[in-house]
Amino acid sequence: METRILKGKPLAAAMREEVSERAANLRDAGVVPTLAVVLVGDDPASRIYSSSIQKAGAKLGVDVRLVELDVASGESGIRDRLTELGADPDVHGIIVQQPLPKGIPGSVVDAVPFAKDVDGSTAESLGRILSGREAFAPATAQAVVEVLSRAGIEVSGRHVVIVGRSTVVGKPLACLLLKKDTVGNATVTVCHTGTRDLAAMTRTADILVAAMGVPEAIRGSMLARGVIAIDVGVNRVDAPGSEKGYRVTGDIAVEEALGVAAALTPVPGGVGTLTTTIILGNAVTAAESALASE
Ligand code: NAP
Repeated sequence: METRILKGKPLAAAMREEVSERAANLRDAGVVPTLAVVLVGDDPASRIYSSSIQKAGAKLGVDVRLVELDVASGESGIRDRLTELGADPDVHGIIVQQPLPKGIPGSVVDAVPFAKDVDGSTAESLGRILSGREAFAPATAQAVVEVLSRAGIEVSGRHVVIVGRSTVVGKPLACLLLKKDTVGNATVTVCHTGTRDLAAMTRTADILVAAMGVPEAIRGSMLARGVIAIDVGVNRVDAPGSEKGYRVTGDIAVEEALGVAAALTPVPGGVGTLTTTIILGNAVTAAESALASE
């Protein structure tokens, strides 16, 4: 069986075109879609990510404002700043960079109003997703849904096995795929470290989503022939002879999956390629909603 490689780049390019057109329409209507990226402390990886969002935003016509906060502002200072941004009519979307510095609880993000929570991080957004009400889902979960729908993969009525139950990927994705609408309506099984026979579960999947963070944990023998394999994992593994000394790999053993899976997302260059565009697109959606309710 030939395995179709579902590259993220062309899918992201199509999304970018749509987002940029919608951002231009907003600008024509006098609204500059604006995303606030809140960086607490000085995590170097978060800083790199922030500047990549800024660059992507500049290309799409979304203003990306970097809001830097000192760890010394503490939990209440951060909450206050998020509340201020939440009330600012010129800010349409807010993301808080993770990981937060030690001593700052993750619940601090709950100060972001759900309508501006463009990476689905708050308890309110997650509760809304669970109850089928309007909210932005975490971008990675949304990215999996986008890959499936943009690649023309039928989800309705099929068995999706998700390996991983985190709040950023597995659990919200299960909710999205269960929804009784065009992108969902799947039968969903969520596996984790407590699952007794993981291979027996994964072999029953029509669509398998690996979101474990364990390099190449899903072996070829764990896949049903013809499965659609979506690899969310991003792992660094030592590669002593290579230039960087490491290589990036997913949670699926690619060489073993080729010829068994009907389709496979690569790592890097798969699901992760879409997330920044999704966040910027959500900021545009939030700006459109704000304009419509004026
Ligand atoms: P996480 O919070 O560590 O959750 C991992 C999940 O996988 C947990 O539910 C864990 O089960 C389960 N798991 C781990 N090892 C397992 C095993 N051997 N068998 C069965 N289940 C196992 O990780 P995450 O934040 O969801 O991220 C998962 C992966 O996706 C990571 O590689 C991460 O880098 C990647 N990721 C990529 C993007 C992107 O592309 N932009 C974004 C987010 C995450 P328990 O709950 O029982 O511990």
